[in-house]
Amino acid sequence: MTHIPAAPAAVDYLLLTPGPLSTTATVRAAMLQDSCTWDADYNQGVVEPIRRELVRLATGPEYQSDYSAVLLQGSGSYVVESVLGSAIGSDECLLIINNGAYGARMGEMARCLGLRHHELDCGETTRPEPAAIEAMLARHPEITHLAMVHCETTTGMLNPLDEVAELCQRRGILLIVDAMSSFGGIPIDMGHLGIEFLISSANKCIQGVPGFGFVIARRVALTACAGRARSVSLDLHAQWQTMEQQGGKWRFTSPTHTVLAFAQALRELDEEGGIEARHQRYSENQRTLVDGMAALGFAPLLPEKWQSPIITAFYSPTHPDYRFADFYQRLKAQGFVIYPGKVSQADCFRIGNIGVVTPERVRDLLAAMASACYWQGDAR
Ligand SMILES: *Cc1c(COP(=O)(O)O)cnc(C)c1O
Repeated sequence: MTHIPAAPAAVDYLLLTPGPLSTTATVRAAMLQDSCTWDADYNQGVVEPIRRELVRLATGPEYQSDYSAVLLQGSGSYVVESVLGSAIGSDECLLIINNGAYGARMGEMARCLGLRHHELDCGETTRPEPAAIEAMLARHPEITHLAMVHCETTTGMLNPLDEVAELCQRRGILLIVDAMSSFGGIPIDMGHLGIEFLISSANKCIQGVPGFGFVIARRVALTACAGRARSVSLDLHAQWQTMEQQGGKWRFTSPTHTVLAFAQALRELDEEGGIEARHQRYSENQRTLVDGMAALGFAPLLPEKWQSPIITAFYSPTHPDYRFADFYQRLKAQGFVIYPGKVSQADCFRIGNIGVVTPERVRDLLAAMASACYWQGDAR
């Protein structure tokens, strides 16, 4: 007799989360097939086209031959750890820009891996200032690499990637970008910005399902990772070499169903009109959300100039009867799943715009929101 309960009845909640997020039925349907990880139909037919497409999405034609893509099992953090643990040599030094939970996690990884590193703690609700970064680099000439999150999902802040990339190029610092929650939803040209490593995962703006992440990196930077890894499974160079030399083969068991879903998600990104069109949709979602929330009395945590189109943090109501758990359940009962806050100095909740979310669905959410504000009593 099994003790595993029956699967919960399928409910199509709209996930307003930073991933896993709501996917299309066609992306989910792509998983209804088993693949052999040794066979060319899977490796040459699915994995290799994905790797080429990721490079095409990440940079213009003039730089494409300089870059290569590596897919790696695990959630996004595994890939960040693989890059940090493989890219920084024992005689090199990393600067980590920390303005939220994901920057802080890179610091935790650097400590655990025993990397020579410095951290620039910028606080969660102020933008990392390029001048402060440059001053840090000037004080510490031993720094060779800089790692920064692009969209800090903790707050929804868009960090100043263009300016930081420019100063890294000017000073000869190798740039590692955690673009987990932005790649596919915000245009980025790696070659133009001179980015060495860019990291993202299957279940964010490409709108696939969870199970693996990926790195797009300069070939010379990947080559330099040889023999540097502090972990067997997270050895980025070994994973890359296996994919390069064995036509898309993964070193260890690959998440085949997730990869099929990802291939379908890439086709659907193209059908939508590419990253530019997706960026427009997310931006319109975000504007619709903030305007509608303001009308309901909710203020965003960040000033508009720092806000990304990916996810928005709102201050929690200060009314003594407000409880996030009750508010959450009232929205969930109407088919909408929101996200708790993660900022340490402010009480917030978050609403994501990514995944199968349109301005129409945001308006539906706002209508549900109006009836979920139970603490406002008879006023609603
Ligand atoms: C989602 C995310 C990650 C990775 O998180 P996992 O839970 O490991 O997938 C890393 N950085 C940022 C900015 C993210 O949004």
